[in-house]
Amino acid sequence: HADVAMYKAKELSGNQYQFYSSDIVDRSVESVQLENDLYKALDQGGNEFFLHYQPKFNANTNEITGMEALVRWNHPKLGFMPPNMFIPLAEETGLIVKLGEWVIRQSCLQMKRWYDAGLTELVISANLSPQQFRQHDITNVVKEILEETQLPPENLELELTENIIIHNSETMLATMHKLKNLGIKMSIDDFGTGYSSLGYLKDFPIDTLKIDKSFIDDITTNTNNAAITNTIITLADSLNLSVIAEGVEDQEQAEFLIEHGCYLMQGYYFSRPLEAAKLEEVFLKNLSQ
Ligand code: C2E
Ligand code: CA
Ligand code: CA
Ligand code: CA
Repeated sequence: HADVAMYKAKELSGNQYQFYSSDIVDRSVESVQLENDLYKALDQGGNEFFLHYQPKFNANTNEITGMEALVRWNHPKLGFMPPNMFIPLAEETGLIVKLGEWVIRQSCLQMKRWYDAGLTELVISANLSPQQFRQHDITNVVKEILEETQLPPENLELELTENIIIHNSETMLATMHKLKNLGIKMSIDDFGTGYSSLGYLKDFPIDTLKIDKSFIDDITTNTNNAAITNTIITLADSLNLSVIAEGVEDQEQAEFLIEHGCYLMQGYYFSRPLEAAKLEEVFLKNLSQ
């Protein structure tokens, strides 16, 4: 593909050819470098990575129900890196398997500390990427982490994106059941953005649908997105699933959701993702016994 692109560019003008080709080379050099850095960071035990935790709120009770762990990378040269800058690369190269395992372990370790401090009702969520889900021994990995950290399984949730389950295959379904049988919770992240058929939902051992931020963004002005959101809420209700909205940024969105029966929310309106100490300071201080 690169060759075709360069050839076409060359036909247009000599300068453009040079620009085009060096651009392609630069980009791949950069991502090879980043891949090496990622590999090294993971090999060294993962201390360049850290987690932020974004609380999930129940607007009915005004309480936190849990938090989502979101990974960040403190790159030695480039500094703070948000996940969008390295998760896709980690996914492409397979490094996500090791990184994802680190995330689940750290999430469970942190949640166990909160559990021991008396916050036994909270659920910590970790994102499970498609590669990780397809890894043949994912169930054992999660099982071992739970045993090692002594976190009760019901205090852990895995968020699976809809594209994991697009292919309603036997293997995929078997993996979901094996994970669920560990006693953990499972949710479908970014719900509504995939191309999956709704028919599959009833076969899946899931607890929660998470409505994607893209629907919430203009929920009060875009009637299509409002309709989709309402449909998801009704669907969850009729399948006996919980429903949570992500990316809630203002009061109007929160009120709309409450009015339409969705009480669980996550978003900047309530809180940005925070480091553990900050989360404790702001939200958890009065909760523990
Ligand atoms: P996601 O799982 O959909 O996570 C939600 C993202 O939206 C987070 O971005 C969060 O900070 C952001 N967010 C939450 N509330 C709001 C809001 O009200 N407004 C806006 N504008 N944004 C909001 P973040 O932390 O940058 O993560 C981006 C994505 O990277 C995540 O999307 C997830 O797909 C991926 N990711 C993050 N951590 C992990 C991880 O440990 N493993 C895997 N596989 N993926 C991860
Ligand atoms: Ca998520
Ligand atoms: Ca999401
Ligand atoms: Ca999303």
